[in-house]
Amino acid sequence: MYFDCVSASNFRRKLPLTMKYLSELYDRQNDENDSPNYCVSEFIRYHIGGMNTRPNLQLLLCGDNEKSNELACAPHKFLPNIYRQAGYITNFINNDCCDYPSAYLINTENFRYDHELTGWSCHPDYDNYGQWSNTIGPYSMNKRCINGKFVHSYVFDYLYSFIDLYSTQKLNLPHLTFASFTEGHEGTLEVLSSVDEELSKFLKYMTQRDPSNSPWIYIISDHGSHMGPHYEFTTAGQIEHKLPVLYMLTPKSVLQTISTSSRSISNMLDYLKSNSNVLITSKDVYHTLRIFAETVSEFDIEQSITTAATYETLYNNLSLSRNCKDLGILNKYCACINNNS
Ligand SMILES: [Zn+2]
Repeated sequence: MYFDCVSASNFRRKLPLTMKYLSELYDRQNDENDSPNYCVSEFIRYHIGGMNTRPNLQLLLCGDNEKSNELACAPHKFLPNIYRQAGYITNFINNDCCDYPSAYLINTENFRYDHELTGWSCHPDYDNYGQWSNTIGPYSMNKRCINGKFVHSYVFDYLYSFIDLYSTQKLNLPHLTFASFTEGHEGTLEVLSSVDEELSKFLKYMTQRDPSNSPWIYIISDHGSHMGPHYEFTTAGQIEHKLPVLYMLTPKSVLQTISTSSRSISNMLDYLKSNSNVLITSKDVYHTLRIFAETVSEFDIEQSITTAATYETLYNNLSLSRNCKDLGILNKYCACINNNS
């Protein structure tokens, strides 16, 4: 679940129903009398790796920084390609009229998904033939609709259908979905609230529908808002831009799958807790997502990919002393008052 342009603070402010459900899940995991299915982690020092969508999305999908006029990364490092090699169906949907692979990764041929659903959001009711403004299109401060229905509702409709289809007994295939929402991308910071009711319902559905086959869920943004008066005129807005939202909902089954003799489940739970206070970027998320595909793969994944399994993930013991310089974050994008701390 990818929310373009949403800081951790604005996610908390504008999505109370979603926050309430995440809090319930979190409380369950700390209740000794309960047997929760999920470990909920909030990473409060999740930090941008660059100014806007492009460098951060590239870090998330390729584990690499922006390289202008070149491929974002070698195709075998592209996260959906890694999952495809591991036997997964890959799925992408966004609610703005933009072909993400060609816009942010340059070469569509090497960065494909099995399913990519974008064209529907070019509907003129919403897209206005690409004439986007502060009041029309996917960066609008108005509510966004097609034919009287919220554009995000179409995304959820599709996700329910897709997930149910690939979870039927007849078509029981593992799948990786990247669902992108642009409701955070506007200057008032208010439009995001329109997603709350349906997002909270969707999370409830996904985490309760089949406890024996629970999905691993990330709620992630690339960066906080870089639009409007809060960002333009306040220090708080400038800091929020650098601290996007990141929640990770890890089912117990995933912890079991990726556990090893040197990485026990109780160790991973401890590390998740301490890592919620560690400075991280999308690059750490990339390596965390990657390790799962590598662990479950029955396919012959290239050696260069397999060796990356030793890279640190959010389930490893990350150093609390990490700073912007360590992570390659330029001084001008660093949220820390002292960039070396
Ligand atoms: Zn963005």
